[in-house]
Amino acid sequence: MSDATAKKEEGRKFQATKGTRDILPPETALWNRVEQTAHEVFATFGYGEIRLPVFEDFRLFQRAVGVETDIVNKEMYVLDDLMEGEIGARLEYLRVQIQYMTVSSALPTEVEQFKTLYNDFVKAYRIALERGLAPRDEFTDRHFSFLEAMIGRLDLFPRDMRTPEDSFVLDETVNNCKIQVREIQLTELKALRPEATASVCRAYIEHNMQQLPQPVKLYYLGPMFRRERPQKGRYRQFYQIGAEILGGPDAPATDAEVIEMLMTFFDKVGLQGATLYVNSIGHSAENCRRGYVAKLMAALEKVKDKLGPDSQRRIDTNPLRVLDSKLESEQAIIATLPRIADHLCDECKTHYAAVKRQLELRGVLYQENWRLVRGLDYYMRTTFEITAPGLGSQNAVCGGGRYDGLVELLGGPPTKGIGFAIGEDRLILSLQESGKTNVAQGRDVYIAWMGERAYAAAIRAAKDLRKAGFSVELPPVEQKFGKALGQADKLGARFALILGDNEVSEGLWTIKTLSTGEQTKFTESDLLDYLVKQRSA
Ligand code: AMP
Repeated sequence: MSDATAKKEEGRKFQATKGTRDILPPETALWNRVEQTAHEVFATFGYGEIRLPVFEDFRLFQRAVGVETDIVNKEMYVLDDLMEGEIGARLEYLRVQIQYMTVSSALPTEVEQFKTLYNDFVKAYRIALERGLAPRDEFTDRHFSFLEAMIGRLDLFPRDMRTPEDSFVLDETVNNCKIQVREIQLTELKALRPEATASVCRAYIEHNMQQLPQPVKLYYLGPMFRRERPQKGRYRQFYQIGAEILGGPDAPATDAEVIEMLMTFFDKVGLQGATLYVNSIGHSAENCRRGYVAKLMAALEKVKDKLGPDSQRRIDTNPLRVLDSKLESEQAIIATLPRIADHLCDECKTHYAAVKRQLELRGVLYQENWRLVRGLDYYMRTTFEITAPGLGSQNAVCGGGRYDGLVELLGGPPTKGIGFAIGEDRLILSLQESGKTNVAQGRDVYIAWMGERAYAAAIRAAKDLRKAGFSVELPPVEQKFGKALGQADKLGARFALILGDNEVSEGLWTIKTLSTGEQTKFTESDLLDYLVKQRSA
């Protein structure tokens, strides 16, 4: 690096990475209010909070979200996690040495050196496996046997090799060793979670929650990560608030209650103009969704030429996802496609009708949207989405659905499941757009003090007021009263407590209401009573 480049690098200003952002006060107060409301509303429906890791085994998401999805294919942040302890570093070192070593049959020392490196690698790898440090999969044992077998092959070589054939076999053996070593998995793939349903199901299985009274009702909140193209309402680190019910029956009342809870929450946070869409995607059987998908594929084949490249590709990989398309040019064509409601089996039809009836019983307004689908096999029956105004094209604030096959897919017992995830960033955006951001801001009391004795009283007052829950600003250095009152105004304080040596000597403190300019004097003990009354007024 040249001096100039180094200097530039030194003075470089860092910015938040693309697609991530800082959420600052006063906006964070709104986030806290939203999250607090989630805690309160979900608790009234009997949900408990689960806190999950932010990264997990890559394969968990691969299996749960599906290899054919954009999330897994293109959008996951994957981490190569090193093996624990020094042995991982040693294995990496030996692996690099082995990869880059050239071995000439004319130089027996090189052959010996290669053998030593290779033996050391196999020995270290055996220890790593025995100690459970190296990652394992279904191929590990077979792979390790190959590695060991190659030691025998290398040992066959005499120290001096004369014939060209010897040399050829040596080259081939060395190359084979290099390939075996290269293919050993020394790191474990982890991924930043793109969603949390997979983690909740993993936790349900890992902690044997099927032994608890069923169903188990859990909710979570926190950041998710997807490498999407950032735009308004779409970020690479975004926040979700979600809930899942696992176990118990798949009674339509459960589906309806999950949705009722969601709408209660939206109502409590003051979201306006939210629209709830519901649909049923049946279950994965020939007389239900599978039969429908076959019909959909056939219909799509007929109009293939009129579809864009994304939809054309999806006809074979995930035809249901064509229905998600937002492309203007495809809308009229999609409107002519067969609809799943006409192809549900009797049981799924009955279930769907009952969910709608249950929603009506609970006074939850909904619209049906036959295009609301989830492209994965374990999703079944109820799907729902909520849109909100003020968000442009990214107007979905929540998506959810029933996923009765997921726990089993992840190695657990057959377990019914239903849940949703709210996009918190979008919810906040929508609240801001509609002006529903009224969270108490600014300080309650600014203490304008002057003089040594007044300062001691100011510290005492700050302590007492904070104890009573007031937000208090106590300036760390003395200010003239005029300046202090100006500062109090700027901070949006409701009251200024004026404390000078006179006030302290008289035992009468002055409170100024900043909005009216009105000033009143109080004794120290009356002051708190007055402010408490004002707060509840
Ligand atoms: P999903 O997990 O894809 O069903 O998403 C559930 C909700 O999360 C969506 O309805 C959005 O509100 C929100 N969401 C998904 N992806 C993003 C993103 N990249 N940025 C912001 N919010 C998102």
